[in-house]
Amino acid sequence: MPDFPQEKRPAVIVAGAGPAGLMAAERLGLAGCRVTVIDQMPSVGRKLLMAGRSGLNLTNAEPLPDLLARYGEAASWLAPMIEAFKPADVIAWAESLEQPCFTGSSGHVFPVAMKASPLLRAWLARLSELGVRIQTRTCFKAWDNRRAIIDMPEGTRELEADAIVLALGGASWPRLGADGHWTKLFPQTQVRSFRPANCGAIPDWPQARLAEFAGTPLKRIALRCDATETRGDLMIGAQSIEGAPLYHLVPAIRKALDRTGHCTLSLDLRPDLDVEDIAARLARTRPRESRSNRLRKALGLDRLGRALVSDATTDADPRALALAVKQIPLPIAGLAPLDRAISVAGGLRRDALTPDLMVCDRPGLFVCGEMLDWEAPTGGYLLQACLSTGFAAGNAAADWLARENRLPSGKPDGTSGRS
Ligand SMILES: Cc1cc2nc3c(=O)[nH]c(=O)nc-3n(C[C@H](O)[C@H](O)[C@H](O)COP(=O)(O)OP(=O)(O)OC[C@H]3O[C@@H](n4cnc5c(N)ncnc54)[C@H](O)[C@@H]3O)c2cc1C
Repeated sequence: MPDFPQEKRPAVIVAGAGPAGLMAAERLGLAGCRVTVIDQMPSVGRKLLMAGRSGLNLTNAEPLPDLLARYGEAASWLAPMIEAFKPADVIAWAESLEQPCFTGSSGHVFPVAMKASPLLRAWLARLSELGVRIQTRTCFKAWDNRRAIIDMPEGTRELEADAIVLALGGASWPRLGADGHWTKLFPQTQVRSFRPANCGAIPDWPQARLAEFAGTPLKRIALRCDATETRGDLMIGAQSIEGAPLYHLVPAIRKALDRTGHCTLSLDLRPDLDVEDIAARLARTRPRESRSNRLRKALGLDRLGRALVSDATTDADPRALALAVKQIPLPIAGLAPLDRAISVAGGLRRDALTPDLMVCDRPGLFVCGEMLDWEAPTGGYLLQACLSTGFAAGNAAADWLARENRLPSGKPDGTSGRS
């Protein structure tokens, strides 16, 4: 940390104590700023802790060009930030917090602890050593000429702020803190409305079918939307179908629903077998057996699988049945609501920001994390982008303060934690 008197250090408010805000705070603390992180919840990092419940997929070890492609239209914009704090840096940073990581299937990277609490504890201890103050139950309301206006249980207050970093999150799972109310702080033209991402899809099925099969998995299936195919497991819920193969298709489903009002996916119940293999297996069953028994015995299809094949065809011919197994139409009536989505699409538009994440018409106000207008599938890409943009916004705010002669030196060196 640069060595200069406390009173000469610029005051920076970071609003939002999720992974993006805490990363920005770490960079600003390392650069020698007096950092206060505020959060409206009674405790910090609630969504990060929730992500830890499923193992905390921190990033993805696939080659960088493949990883960048996961951000779709936002890839070129995010690329410099992700390259500056890439998956290897995320792993080194987690390990510097004594959280060794491992790479699981499909390149998913997890801490060995498979939860977020030890990482968050060590991170907060590091921030405390850097002099970063954390103030909970404090809602960011507005900014006004080097001041942040905040609401606390005691009433409305002002905090001195040479710079402000907003990391207020998206608008899914609002009970964890990110409620999207911050959109009112910006002109409507600067915000693309939030839509659910990584969310379930509501099948256009009779309610009775959903009720009958709620809790039933569809294992090792393939799902197609236009030219894109995804594989994995789905789960039938009380109102929607959930699962990673579906989440990856949400941008395409959303586009189709917006364009035409409907979208039909194609479900392949046995993606590892081709039509000929399936037809041959079915042909080997006894002709006197019922269709349902043949599908069960030859292909191991459960009751749900057999019901879906019955919807697709009434034909008993092995080849016709095989074709049906490989391409069951799955009509989608809509996407599950925003508050149950894992993440969001939409947020503060890129053209409202400089390339280093400062709001164009608000010098000294920086933004990072899920409140920015990007989306990505599950697989570690969400936390990767939140940490990379937090890293970028923290460094950029420190650089800006240095250019304004409010901070003796700019961005700290190194990308893997302390410098
Ligand atoms: C169930 C679940 C599982 C997930 N699993 C994974 C995973 O394994 N891998 C992965 O990459 N991603 C995962 N995610 C997504 C990931 O957790 C989020 O993308 C990430 O937490 C967003 O970080 P953020 O810092 O931008 O926002 P958040 O983590 O949402 O933090 C925003 C903070 O801002 C605070 N805030 C909001 N408004 C105000 C205000 N006005 N004043 C003060 N404070 C305010 C909130 O209280 C909150 O603490 C998961 C999400 C969910 C819901």
